Amino acid sequence: MSRVTYHDAARVFSGSSPVRAVDGLRLTVDDGEFLVLVGPSGSGKSTALRMLAGLEEIDEGSVHIGETDVTSMPPKARDIAMVFQSYALYPHMTVAENMGFALKLRRVPKKEVRERVVEAAELLDLTDYLDRKPRALSGGQRQRVAMGRAIVREPSVFLMDEPLSNLDAKLRVETRANIAALQRRLGTTTIYVTHDQTEAMTMGHRVAVLAGGVLQQCDTPRELYEHPANAFVAGFIGSPA
Ligand code: ADP
Ligand code: MG
Repeated sequence: MSRVTYHDAARVFSGSSPVRAVDGLRLTVDDGEFLVLVGPSGSGKSTALRMLAGLEEIDEGSVHIGETDVTSMPPKARDIAMVFQSYALYPHMTVAENMGFALKLRRVPKKEVRERVVEAAELLDLTDYLDRKPRALSGGQRQRVAMGRAIVREPSVFLMDEPLSNLDAKLRVETRANIAALQRRLGTTTIYVTHDQTEAMTMGHRVAVLAGGVLQQCDTPRELYEHPANAFVAGFIGSPA
């Protein structure tokens, strides 16, 4: 069971004027769902993901993975893998070594590491590149290696924070389709963050729209388009007013 639930979760950054970066987020992502979290820059998308990954404190409310309250769990104890926009691969390691590194650290037997890496490479079209170093790959291939590194861990939940924003437009469209296909095959519960409305509306089973740390609406792309909850959503999604 890898349903994800935010129960009125908030993150408040203190300072001269405190920022409620995520403000009372109530959201359930179903087991196996691909949910897109979309919103303008500064709306709290990354903070919301980082709260789930354990990289950001949760100041109010709680987050659950399946039946487990993970609110105070250290990041490593959470069954989550995260792919960022700036994916640092180890330059001195081959693609296969990069992909298997986390498993090696967890003392997974060598043979099993190899099997999982080969399997992930097939899914990601990287089979011919396993013995190359990252510098010999294109940007899109490197991004796929970063995804492979997440996949081999077989997490219950994938978190992706604008993973395509460093790619050029053409590659972004291709990789978008790859990610969607991959998610369908693996069936892993996924939260995908983007500020790109087209990406949101084409990739998500459901789309959650954030503004100013507050969830505006979470619905299927079609519902969002046809029945936006408010003027912000209508404007952001570009539905007829
Ligand atoms: P997004 O990913 O949607 O662009 P973020 O989650 O990064 O938004 O940021 C949400 C809000 O929280 C912004 O106002 C941002 O300035 C603020 N914020 C994010 N991280 C920090 C931090 N470490 N310290 C103070 N404020 C932060
Ligand atoms: Mg962000």
